Amino acid sequence: MDPIEALERVSYLSDRGRLDSRKSEAFLKAAKVLRDLPADELQQRLTNGTVTFLPGIGPSTAAVIQQAAAGKVPDRIVKLEQETVVPLGAGAAIREALRGDCHTHSLASDGGASIATMAAAARALGHEYLVVTDHSPRLTVARGLTRDRLLAQLDEIAALNEAAATDGGTPFRILTGVEVDINLDGSLDGDDDVLARLDVVVASVHSKLTMDRSAMTRRMIAAIRNPHTDILGHCTGRKLDVSTDGTLVKVRRPQSNFDADAVFAACAEAQTAVEINSRPERQDPPDDLLDIAVDAGCLFSIDTDSHAPGQLEFLNYGADKAAAHRIAPERIVTTWTIEKLLEWTHRH
Ligand SMILES: [Zn+2]
Repeated sequence: MDPIEALERVSYLSDRGRLDSRKSEAFLKAAKVLRDLPADELQQRLTNGTVTFLPGIGPSTAAVIQQAAAGKVPDRIVKLEQETVVPLGAGAAIREALRGDCHTHSLASDGGASIATMAAAARALGHEYLVVTDHSPRLTVARGLTRDRLLAQLDEIAALNEAAATDGGTPFRILTGVEVDINLDGSLDGDDDVLARLDVVVASVHSKLTMDRSAMTRRMIAAIRNPHTDILGHCTGRKLDVSTDGTLVKVRRPQSNFDADAVFAACAEAQTAVEINSRPERQDPPDDLLDIAVDAGCLFSIDTDSHAPGQLEFLNYGADKAAAHRIAPERIVTTWTIEKLLEWTHRH
């Protein structure tokens, strides 16, 4: 096993298992240190025992490097491969039917990996596509993309797609997108001409989650009916503290308050899909609201809202959630072929 790949695998598995994110970052940083070394230096340092003299390499990263360089699968990886498997229960059939992920972030906003790295991980998982949905300009805390940065990202994605088309691997495509903020008045935080060019638009509320029920309902319905909107992201905005085994510890950020009957009726009418956000600390919509959306006849999109490659495996959680609510696979847009998906996102 290549030492750099080994370090990156530890980071991936830590993210998949929702372990301490600082540890995951430390392994990723160590991988970068090795990548930046002149040829032969690592081998020399392994021979004379000075690997830990490198900045950012401590005893635990060094152990992984040494074992990998010796041709072994590092003990840490063996352990993590077993302990961080994302559980999958009744949703196995739905998970099998999923073809991709419509909500992911890259380094361009608040994600932890490049688009190329995210795409490679998605492809390794058997996805047919990955939609990159970095944040829109107003979400400055998450380095929301300005118009120019988003346009530059479209060029980056086109180049990556061109390379993927000719590399002899399984067919795979990166789709363009944005997670656009829903402004207080229900308008979207993006330019019409750019939103119209994107393959998929996820619209989410990120500000003033505590606004009163009728104002929030109006705000959400305006965004749901906006012709650019394809998916309503994490509809309540709640954040939970969940232990590693999945039990709720406490509600960290309460859910917003809106008229769910009206909101999901609007989704069904506009054919805007309701996101089933798979992140364990979101689990959005909550179960009672998800039932209302099911009864309203909504479409759904099972997304991971990944900020790191290992989190792409969170789809298992969303698939189990959909199965628990008896949602037919045909109503889940992420089971559709790319052609059907794009026909739907271009329906207006
Ligand atoms: Zn979001």
